[in-house]
Amino acid sequence: MSVQKILLYPNPNLKKIAHSVDKIDPEISELIGDLLDTMYAGPGSVGVAAPQIGVNLRICVIDVSKNRNGKDNNHGLLVMVNPEIIARSGSGIMREGCMSVPDYTGDVERATEVTVKFMDGNQEIVEIVATDFEAVAIQHEMDHLDGILFLDRIVSLKTGLFRRKSYK
Ligand code: ZN
Repeated sequence: MSVQKILLYPNPNLKKIAHSVDKIDPEISELIGDLLDTMYAGPGSVGVAAPQIGVNLRICVIDVSKNRNGKDNNHGLLVMVNPEIIARSGSGIMREGCMSVPDYTGDVERATEVTVKFMDGNQEIVEIVATDFEAVAIQHEMDHLDGILFLDRIVSLKTGLFRRKSYK
């Protein structure tokens, strides 16, 4: 397991629809380990998806517990394989960033509560209800599995896109 290189926009691999995963075999476990190492190595990163490290599979990892916006309300580390949003409600605008788009942040409107069903790293099917910052992080990472970047969802290109001064 090791930290992997993050593909940067406009790499065409970031625009692909990722494939479902059948089961958690040793190769997938190793990939999950790589995603975790890569997420925790990224400054302030709260999630990473397999397509961002060049693997076109429906896997993402999320952990908002160390972020000031997510620390009081989270499920800790989430390993999501084939995640599906089965219910969503509310809506809010939040400033988002992405390791694949290091030079910009942007305002994106998303649901503030999502119910997500997924397979975890132990091949168990899990369902959770996530809210606020964690819900946004989940929707952001799941978008990567469909080839969508936050840049595609900016509320306004005129007023909703910001050049990042520093990553932290
Ligand atoms: Zn991202």
